[in-house]
Amino acid sequence: MAIEYFEPTSVAEAAALAARFGASASFIAGGTDLVIQMRRGLRHPAQLIDLQRIAGLDAIAIAGGQIRIGGLTRHRAIERHPYFRASLHALVESAEVIGGFQVRNVGTVGGNLCNASPAADLSPILLVLDATVHLAGTGGERTLPLADFLQGPGRTGRAPDELLTAVSCAVPPPASATAFIKQGRRAAMEISVVGVAALVTLAADGRCLDARIAVGAAAPQALRMPAVESVLRGAALSEAALAEAGRIAAAACAPLSDVRASAAYRRHLVRVLVPRALRRCVQRVTGVTP
Ligand SMILES: Cc1cc2nc3c(=O)[nH]c(=O)nc-3n(C[C@H](O)[C@H](O)[C@H](O)COP(=O)(O)OP(=O)(O)OC[C@H]3O[C@@H](n4cnc5c(N)ncnc54)[C@H](O)[C@@H]3O)c2cc1C
Repeated sequence: MAIEYFEPTSVAEAAALAARFGASASFIAGGTDLVIQMRRGLRHPAQLIDLQRIAGLDAIAIAGGQIRIGGLTRHRAIERHPYFRASLHALVESAEVIGGFQVRNVGTVGGNLCNASPAADLSPILLVLDATVHLAGTGGERTLPLADFLQGPGRTGRAPDELLTAVSCAVPPPASATAFIKQGRRAAMEISVVGVAALVTLAADGRCLDARIAVGAAAPQALRMPAVESVLRGAALSEAALAEAGRIAAAACAPLSDVRASAAYRRHLVRVLVPRALRRCVQRVTGVTP
């Protein structure tokens, strides 16, 4: 059956088309998830609503202590952005491991989040940054914490006529650093077996003022780890404290066994990678390994 193809030039027009066709339509951005799902016979949209002609949806703005990344921003634009390269290492580390150059030149932030894979590489760092998702539909605009937006494999808090127009977060406070570590079955062009993102803010005396951890591919959706974070806040980040953080995180995640790895191996990776990501953050703030 032929697929009808639409190229709206505004958010309102795209939302109106999605509302008109309902469940038979699908938005398409880079197509790097959707086209593969269509080829595998998992999705059969009768209408494709291409978002690429909507001006401004790919803008990155950093002002007033806030970061706003448009839904159509390509991974390569994040990877090359001078501010992110200088100050938000984990965002670059997450974007630069998504597929190869071809995928990163067309794949978008909105597609990565709306596809809602538990292994999506941008989810952990955006959770760590307490990101907010901006949605626009025929009923108007609204925002949702990313933690509420991601609801399970392929499931989000987005209504069918809503586009993800942007994701926003606060600039991390001074004396903070971030890190993202991905483990795949091979070093490149690989979906995460586990991905861990961390943010650490240190007090003047070197203690941990704030620690935030999120883990991808170790539960039905990427997860923040509040039990780990509360143990670390106020603590000296000794090797013993970091190892304890890894043990708590491994107990708190809920990994599945699949073609890429067993649940036990994923849990082992969480136990190892959480301390490693935290250590890397501390090193980035102080220049010294704890
Ligand atoms: C070879 C290969 C390697 C890959 N490697 C990785 C990897 O290492 N890590 C990783 O995380 N992903 C990987 N991916 C998956 C994919 O590239 C990313 O998830 C990408 O970000 C998807 O973005 P897209 O613009 O291509 O989405 P699309 O395929 O266009 O869309 C995906 C879904 O999101 C919806 N959608 C897209 N944009 C919006 C929007 N703005 N508002 C509402 N709905 C929207 C679509 O309707 C569709 O359901 C890989 C894919 C390929 C083909």
